[in-house]
Amino acid sequence: MKIMKFGGTSVGRPERMHQVSELITKDDEAKIVVLSALSGTTNALVGIGDSIANGNREKAKQQIDALEAHYQSFVKELVKQEKTCNKAKNIIAEHFEFLNIILKISFSEALNKDILAQGELLSTKLFSIYLEEKGVDHELLPALEFMIIDTYDEPQIGTIKIKLAQLLQLHKDKKIFITQGYICRNARGEVDNLKRGGSDYSASLIAAAANASVCEIWTDIDGMHNNDPRVVKKTVPIEQLSFEEAAELAYFGAKILHPASIWPAQFYKVPVKLLNTMQPAAKGTLITEEAGSVGVKAVAAKDGIFTINIKSSRMLLAYGFLRKIFEVFEKYRTSIDMVTTSEVAVSVTIDNPNHLKEILKELEPFGTVEVEDVHTIISVVGNEIAQTPNILSKLFESLTSIPVRMVSYGGSKHNISILVPSEYKTQTLQLLNKGLFGLE
Ligand code: ADP
Ligand code: ASP
Ligand code: MG
Repeated sequence: MKIMKFGGTSVGRPERMHQVSELITKDDEAKIVVLSALSGTTNALVGIGDSIANGNREKAKQQIDALEAHYQSFVKELVKQEKTCNKAKNIIAEHFEFLNIILKISFSEALNKDILAQGELLSTKLFSIYLEEKGVDHELLPALEFMIIDTYDEPQIGTIKIKLAQLLQLHKDKKIFITQGYICRNARGEVDNLKRGGSDYSASLIAAAANASVCEIWTDIDGMHNNDPRVVKKTVPIEQLSFEEAAELAYFGAKILHPASIWPAQFYKVPVKLLNTMQPAAKGTLITEEAGSVGVKAVAAKDGIFTINIKSSRMLLAYGFLRKIFEVFEKYRTSIDMVTTSEVAVSVTIDNPNHLKEILKELEPFGTVEVEDVHTIISVVGNEIAQTPNILSKLFESLTSIPVRMVSYGGSKHNISILVPSEYKTQTLQLLNKGLFGLE
């Protein structure tokens, strides 16, 4: 059994969906195909939810109508036979009727999650209708019946495994299964999701649960590149990464992978391949336990970082101070990315400001607390890079013009991170591209 996940751009146009059907029917291996919403749909649904939450139902109605029109023209190119055409139109009507009903009832966070789920529900149902037209035998597996998260939004891999196995058992004769990425059911039984970009996480969880031979992530680029191609002009694909390296890159901002998407594959030892739907013959990136080579492989950037500084003379020669500070973050389930300390001060960074107010209040008794925002963590990732000769001098020689705010070295053997004001992100990534990779 293998897993093939196709992202938004891979299903975002009718001809791309046609191409996806070619890719999934190329070999005979049983497969679970995980689909994202058509590109732009989740953003549009977020917009609809925001308009309703802000009480602007007229705007929401216009947004719903525009999205429906997009789907109507999409299916005109997707399917050709009258029967499948009508089926597709009915599916669209059904889902947009649901959105129109939501317009009339009072808004809640739970309802918003229902809105966000429509994208993946639509893409998988439309793709299934196209496969039916092509005569490709397959089964649609509803992710809401097996993708379960707990009260802390953590996927319940044990439950997922059991429920998925039960569903697969019901269709033992089938070889192609289609399911939704991103969406899941929470501990209250409501529709929920694995956060933006979460279809990669769905694929990896399914790969782990199904003990898959490989988890293929098909997207719009030929694998993990050495730098962020949205920011830097000349970037090159990396052939091989270890799970550790890939996890660091995903966590520290390489958008090609959802931040949490590596651990299930790593834990259950399923190789991950990053492949390009538009160039299926390209090598892409293979992610396994093997790193392949030693040294710098890539840099990534994570925006939206808040830095909290706590200064206190009571820290001098005191013990237990850091523990007390970390306990505050633990209480609010807010993870810390970077830490630096001196005798009288500690600085930590967080990427989730949801409980910032409460955290700051609880830190006040420890000393003077200051917050700086609009920071970016730039991570340099590679197998054993902390031990690579001259790595630090190379890094800082490249960055003489950058006001580096913090440095993290030695925490992981595979990562060196620096914190910079976000306005310096582009320049930092460009300078590192030249300094570390010789690419301009
Ligand atoms: P999908 O819709 O298939 O999930 P995403 O847009 O989420 O695709 O991820 C693919 C995009 O990730 C690429 O188009 C690229 O712009 C961006 N990206 C950011 N950093 C990297 C990187 N280091 N390597 C490859 N792609 C990256
Ligand atoms: N459709 C969701 C999003 O746009 C999930 C995904 O594409 O991975 O965030
Ligand atoms: Mg993605």
